[in-house]
Amino acid sequence: MRLLPGDRVPGHLLAEDDQGLTVMARGRDGWCVALDRGSLRCTIYAVRPLLCRVFEAGSPECLEERAADGLPP
Ligand code: SF4
Repeated sequence: MRLLPGDRVPGHLLAEDDQGLTVMARGRDGWCVALDRGSLRCTIYAVRPLLCRVFEAGSPECLEERAADGLPP
């Protein structure tokens, strides 16, 4: 997940992608490091990046991504 100006995510959760852009770091499993693997909830919900805020949970795009990862709707 790419960060935008104004995002206030703690620095230790960030990384740089191959284009030099700041993104959310990923764990070895490829998932965002801010994701609680047990509950599948965001551990930084109050300060999650803007792009996370506009990606509506339960939207067709959300359901498509969940299905692609083998997760239930
Ligand atoms: S909502 Fe939270 S856990 Fe999901 S990608 Fe954004 S920062 Fe990571």
